[in-house]
Amino acid sequence: MTSGSEAFEPWAWRDSAAVLAPVEAIAAEQASLPVEPWDLEQQEQLRDCLRRNALSPQTFQRAHALLHQQGGQRLQQQADALRRALVGETVSYVRNRNLNFTNHCVQHCSFCAFRRDPDQPGAYWHRIEELQHRASEAANTGASELCLQGGLNTAARLNGSMLGYYAALLRALRDAAPGLHLHAFSPQELLFIAREDGISLQSVLESLCSAGLDSVPGTAAEVLSEPVRHQLCPEKLTAREWCAVVLQVHRSGLPSTSTLMAGHIEAPADRAAHLLTLVALQQQARQHQVPGFSEFVLLPFIGANAPAALRRRVGRDQPDRAAMLALTAQSRLLLGEWIVNHQPSWVKLTLEGATEALRWGCNDLGGTLMEESITSMAGAEGGTSQSASALEAAARSVGRPVRERTTLYGERR
Ligand code: SF4
Repeated sequence: MTSGSEAFEPWAWRDSAAVLAPVEAIAAEQASLPVEPWDLEQQEQLRDCLRRNALSPQTFQRAHALLHQQGGQRLQQQADALRRALVGETVSYVRNRNLNFTNHCVQHCSFCAFRRDPDQPGAYWHRIEELQHRASEAANTGASELCLQGGLNTAARLNGSMLGYYAALLRALRDAAPGLHLHAFSPQELLFIAREDGISLQSVLESLCSAGLDSVPGTAAEVLSEPVRHQLCPEKLTAREWCAVVLQVHRSGLPSTSTLMAGHIEAPADRAAHLLTLVALQQQARQHQVPGFSEFVLLPFIGANAPAALRRRVGRDQPDRAAMLALTAQSRLLLGEWIVNHQPSWVKLTLEGATEALRWGCNDLGGTLMEESITSMAGAEGGTSQSASALEAAARSVGRPVRERTTLYGERR
């Protein structure tokens, strides 16, 4: 197994440092400034700062002010108005099936209730034939996407090659359910494959693209702040490595989503750094005219089944809904024109909470999922699947039209 920067293309490793917003510098701005109530003028100043330079001290100041705003009607209305201006009234959703194919994992992230050692009770690793069966079931019920993510399973190899296993998995799913969009493997999983096999990330991306990979989930980002990651998930890829993987993913022609896990030990400066880093990455994608982030998903922390130490530190089992709605609005206002599709997580917030988030800047209700394991094992109360009609009813309950979309927000035919 390799480590360090060897897996990356030299340009990606260099640029990853340039897009990563410095938490310490943002925190320093925060210490020195009063927080004025957010108004239209400040929103326009933030937009101009982001266009000029997403990582300038002036942008840090505006982000600082926004991330310290209290939730309330003013913030909600501003986020709602920006959502309307950028993407209109229609709420979208996608018919998909989640396949969390294994929970064997060599890492021990402090928030994770999903992972198991292979010999632990509850450990599982689905056979490829079983996954094919589930994929074909999904196709038969009208799904357009399969979303694949799993633990970091060192035994997942074909003839000794981890890349061989992952490519075979994609090919098998493509055979079982032709035409379904394969949205698969987080930046952490992609880098794990490269390092386990001692090969370049680029060769992993090229092989998986040939095997049918269509896009990449932007998970494992957690919070793009090295000090927080050091406490929360020290074995995981670093924030800089996450950025380097995403730069290469986009440059390879693969779109990805973007996420933020919030509501645990992170501070407003960490949230600001994370969101500004996403903007900087999206600007890189646009500059190079390659696919970038298709959406932003806020993932509220679920503490119910988290290990005791972190649970005690956070002091709550389920998300603080009001705080997460405020962050939903702040994220919409900060990401502005750079990431226009915003999705709440009904798994984490419940469908009722996700429906409320549609009033706070969101325009999408995510997927039907059909089966979800990672968050439900963490103790979330939102359930593991939704019918298309339940998602449509949720959108209509807030007086908005609704449409089924493809993974990349196209029209479903
Ligand atoms: S979050 Fe992912 S990488 Fe971390 S322990 Fe859980 S399954 Fe493993």
